[in-house]
Amino acid sequence: MDIITLAVTPFSQNCRIVICQQTRQAFIVDPGGDADKIIAELARHTVVIKSIVLTHGHLDHVGAAKQLADHFNVQIVGPQKDEQFWFDALPMQAQMFGFVPIQPFYPDVWLEAGDTYEVGDLSFAVRHCPGHTPGHVIFYEARHQVVLVGDVIFNGSVGRTDFPKGDAQQLLHSIKTQVLTLPDETRILSGHGPDTTVGVERISNPFISGKFG
Ligand SMILES: [Zn+2]
Repeated sequence: MDIITLAVTPFSQNCRIVICQQTRQAFIVDPGGDADKIIAELARHTVVIKSIVLTHGHLDHVGAAKQLADHFNVQIVGPQKDEQFWFDALPMQAQMFGFVPIQPFYPDVWLEAGDTYEVGDLSFAVRHCPGHTPGHVIFYEARHQVVLVGDVIFNGSVGRTDFPKGDAQQLLHSIKTQVLTLPDETRILSGHGPDTTVGVERISNPFISGKFG
């Protein structure tokens, strides 16, 4: 598996291009914006884009999804259907995030906990992690020990819970049951900031180690 990371939007959102080395099939995770930059990067690689995959519905993660889906003629996959209200609210989100307005759209496929998302030889287990947003999902590839977590957990921090339908207790529950249950070696690829691992966060993340009240 190859992963290309592109920082997009004024929020430096980590858009990921995940590539199966064997088949050169690939998918784009959380294209928050800067579609032209993502398309230009992809032109430098021999890959076939199979889908646009979303961890949650915040505009800094989905802003370029529709444009890229149309460009590559592929489906938008995820998140979980409890996220629908954030897609209903895309025009309001443009104001909230200070982005230019975008055309409202919805995913072609909603995901559920226990689903498997496959591209080429890669197989990602879908885990539902509400708290930052109600329909947030994460994607775990067991063979390569990588998890794409969106805004659930960051290097030394956790996702915000002060947005509508955010829930701090629920977020911590999601992290403990869906992230910290993965092997320590698992690489955590977050929506913002540097990569980390499950083992490092288990010990040093102040929001989950109990060092903050
Ligand atoms: Zn978010």
